[in-house]
Amino acid sequence: MKECVKINPERLWTRLNEVGHIGSDPRGGVSRFAWEPAYREAVVCLLRWIEEAGLTARIDTVGNVFARLEGAEPQAPAVLSGSHFDTVPQGGCFDGLAGVMGALEALTAIKESGLPHRRPLEMVAFINEEASQFLGGTFGSKAMCGMLPDDYAFHLRHRQSGQLLSDAMREYGMGVDPSRLAESKIDPQAYCAFLEMHIEQGRYLLDREKPFSIVSCVAGIKQFYITFLGKAAHAGGMAMADRHDALAAAAAVITAVESLARRCGPDTRGTVGYISVSPCEHNIIADSVTISVDFREADDEKWEALYTDLMEVTQRECEKRGLTWTVNSTCNLKPAHCAPELIQLLEEAAAGTGVEKDRMISFPAHDSMNMSRIMPMGMLFLRSSNDGLSHCPEEFTTREDMVLGTQVLTNALLAASNWAD
Ligand SMILES: [Zn+2]
Repeated sequence: MKECVKINPERLWTRLNEVGHIGSDPRGGVSRFAWEPAYREAVVCLLRWIEEAGLTARIDTVGNVFARLEGAEPQAPAVLSGSHFDTVPQGGCFDGLAGVMGALEALTAIKESGLPHRRPLEMVAFINEEASQFLGGTFGSKAMCGMLPDDYAFHLRHRQSGQLLSDAMREYGMGVDPSRLAESKIDPQAYCAFLEMHIEQGRYLLDREKPFSIVSCVAGIKQFYITFLGKAAHAGGMAMADRHDALAAAAAVITAVESLARRCGPDTRGTVGYISVSPCEHNIIADSVTISVDFREADDEKWEALYTDLMEVTQRECEKRGLTWTVNSTCNLKPAHCAPELIQLLEEAAAGTGVEKDRMISFPAHDSMNMSRIMPMGMLFLRSSNDGLSHCPEEFTTREDMVLGTQVLTNALLAASNWAD
């Protein structure tokens, strides 16, 4: 692999581990939640490294942290790279943080090299991607992309304490201001590309013995609840022909979720992971059942078809039994395709590694999905070395993979910073 600027592996690994353990949970793993004291402590640490590197730090009105390295043409649209800085409850040191620390190391090494480059380079640490306490997901990037209502922080509450997000933000400080949420929206014209390095969180790369892969697309996600309404009756007294059995219809639809996903192709996911049955008694026919459905698919047409096909099945199964039904959609993110020019950029940056031609789909959602709606987006996945585990204390990516991925990211950022308009 050609390295115009060599990163500092020791610095990268030491810092990742230092900041990664801030918010250590006595039950195991790391619980570093947005706007909490441990999060602030980690941000202070990050700000110190940004300053030490001679980069310019900025915190926006919701708490996203930026580091900027000016280029020869400060007015040219910048290249942005980063990931999220929060964790799930009892999470690991790599989810999100790998991409933040990778981007910081890239900018630090490029700055140290003194190599001239045209465009500014920016690192971003997104806040509240995991949304562990204030639900919603990818909050920081949504705010940057202008996808949240201005009064959002005045309605959302902490899922355990009930505290308003606006109050939590004020307590957090650091220049964060819930009444100025709209000011965190960035001008898409000020940026030419976004690159996110992230751990895979599955076994795909591990099983293929590949240290990393370039992502082709972040699969579209549809999540919704279907509620089936029938009539409760005696399990013995009511003849089969006279029933309005909500659970029997739900069972048929659950089976259809699996079969539709299987029929769609090997890269489709369909999951029912939640069911609620009323009255949930062994001798009463269920009158009300709610199930969750989660579909993930990278192809736009197939992604739409999964939903419409399931609605047809639901209608048919309910008609058969004389039921009514409703759907409540909770997430509807169409597939986010990585920009061809950024896939090519990453491929060139990884030339010589032997895996530069490999592509994979991301099935988990990422901040990159939001960013792709306003600027070209590219993604790099690192191998999850411990059985593919993530969102748990066992989450691990090796130092070698972390270093290799960060070097590829650095090569890509440097190349992109010299792009012509
Ligand atoms: Zn993540």
